[in-house]
Amino acid sequence: MHDLVIRGALLLDGLGSPPQPGDLAVKDGRIFQVGRIEGAAAETVDAQGLALMPGIIDNHTHYDAQITWDPWLSPSPELGVTTAVIGNCGFTIAPCRAADRERVMKNLTQVEGMSLEALRAGIRWDFESLPQYLDMLERRGSAANVAAFVGHSALRTYVMGEAASERAATGKEILLMKEIVLEAMQAGAVGFSTSTSPAHNGEGGLPMPSRLADEGELRALVGCLKEAGRGVFMLTKGGHTSMPFLESLAALSGQPVVVAALLHSSTNPQAVFEDLEAIAQANARGRRLVGAVSCCPLAMDFTLRSPYTFEGLESWRPALPLKGEEFKKKLKDVSFRQTIRVELSRPAHFRLFNGEWDKVVVVESLRKDFEQRSVAELARTSGKDPLDAMLDLALEEDLGTVFSALLLNSDETAVARLLEHPAAMVSLSDAGAHLTFFNDAGFGLHLLGHWVRELGVLDLAQAAWRLAGQPAQVFGIRGRGALKPGWHADLLLFDPARVGRGARRRVFDLPAGQPRLTTSAIGVHGVWVNGVRIADAQGMHAAQRLPGRLLRDFAV
Ligand SMILES: [Zn+2]
Repeated sequence: MHDLVIRGALLLDGLGSPPQPGDLAVKDGRIFQVGRIEGAAAETVDAQGLALMPGIIDNHTHYDAQITWDPWLSPSPELGVTTAVIGNCGFTIAPCRAADRERVMKNLTQVEGMSLEALRAGIRWDFESLPQYLDMLERRGSAANVAAFVGHSALRTYVMGEAASERAATGKEILLMKEIVLEAMQAGAVGFSTSTSPAHNGEGGLPMPSRLADEGELRALVGCLKEAGRGVFMLTKGGHTSMPFLESLAALSGQPVVVAALLHSSTNPQAVFEDLEAIAQANARGRRLVGAVSCCPLAMDFTLRSPYTFEGLESWRPALPLKGEEFKKKLKDVSFRQTIRVELSRPAHFRLFNGEWDKVVVVESLRKDFEQRSVAELARTSGKDPLDAMLDLALEEDLGTVFSALLLNSDETAVARLLEHPAAMVSLSDAGAHLTFFNDAGFGLHLLGHWVRELGVLDLAQAAWRLAGQPAQVFGIRGRGALKPGWHADLLLFDPARVGRGARRRVFDLPAGQPRLTTSAIGVHGVWVNGVRIADAQGMHAAQRLPGRLLRDFAV
């Protein structure tokens, strides 16, 4: 007898094949049969009018800290995610010595917008090395399957201490780091991740440790993947990191390179397509690179107390280490403001904020008549320059004013081209990070609802490939990402006529009562991980079991 039969669904195999109506049977956590199923089952789900696809593989998350207090990985699994890749951009919490915990948490607070109070109250530090961290995850279990990177910034902090944020590594330090990467790969890390992006700053405004690495260090560490014989190199790149250099790393390691974050900027509209084209050409030369693109507009809620939106600007740097009155004094400084205006007026290869003041909106203000109006509009009314208008308003309100900035990926014609590009992979949810700025954990449902149903840019079969089959292939995730007999029963059942992600809302459920933004699923009827149903049309099941597995055995 089958454990479960899902009957009469539109089957999307995750490999891009044309959709077929049919049934799917599950036995012992695996897909037993696909097509027309006879025989009895312990449980039958009538899926008339619904579509069934492999569960979504979210390949860009930052659940490394959250998973230690929340093995449910809220809210990803109810949004259809059955496997999460953690540790992107090099921001892992392992390896970490007890003496460095505070430093690592403070860096995460700054770079990923995580609440320091929540991290202090929440993280379980039952590990020092990455293998110990993986063992802990395996012991404690999780709602979704997890694959973990060994992250460059954590690695540098472990080997170099305070100097990690200050200088290039010595030859001896590089050797030590290599040993740890190799040990992590043997223990089952999915690969090695880093960031060279100027948007990534840690405690006190210092660059995140990985940004201090020179090309020799990167070559040595990515070279470990060749020695290990497998593993993905993932990076979020700054404008100065060239595509030929990344191609040389792919050639050196013989392993895949995931290039993030390829977001479209209206003020430099060609840059992202040039990057994708360079990746396509490298692939034609036999390298394996893929561009991580997003199907969501990048919008961020922020206050001037933690203005991630501006912290990547060179001209913002003098303000980065300042706090309290010192910081406010800097925001008032006429010459500081002038240097920002000058920088914004210059072209940049990649920049989060590009002076589009009509896309910065006041969300919460003591001046209720200002709410929902753009900074550009307020500036026009008051006869001020927009930067002055924003900073003056924030200063008047003790920096409590909440703004929302639509930063990147807002041009849907351009984003459609990204989503269709053969060198692209749909990615960049950043789930688990930036919890007060935005929440794109529902990116997969957004792809299925907005880009498939509403805009018709992709069809359902292509979307299922983008969300499941393709990331499984890039990361070498064995036996997942497709509806095939013998493969793990990670499944998403949804209504194609309704599917989407709900509006973002603020909840206060992080450790120490800290706030985050979250979102609910629309049109999801079931999510199964290794054959266990964890969500239905009402949301997450209050199940006793955590069916997710720690993945350690990868094909690439
Ligand atoms: Zn990231």
